[in-house]
Amino acid sequence: MTEGLKMTPAHPGWREFRYLLAEACHFEFGDPDQPEAMTWECDCTTDRATTVLAEHFTDCDIKGSVSYWERRGGQCSCEVLFNVRGDDE
Ligand SMILES: [Zn+2]
Repeated sequence: MTEGLKMTPAHPGWREFRYLLAEACHFEFGDPDQPEAMTWECDCTTDRATTVLAEHFTDCDIKGSVSYWERRGGQCSCEVLFNVRGDDE
């Protein structure tokens, strides 16, 4: 293996990563009866996601992780939460 470890659904820290990323994006679920009321912040970059990686998952290859997310539809931090899933791992 010459490539670094990537933050993917196969990574043992994936669940924790998603939790920390949701916090970093300030997800608010609002009224459970109105799921469309959910709000969050996103700056249309993966900066929040890469910051979580840099702070909490120092063994991860950030560039490799970002390119993995982008291939899975995660063009920004909130899309990583919405679109990157482990179903086809
Ligand atoms: Zn976003």
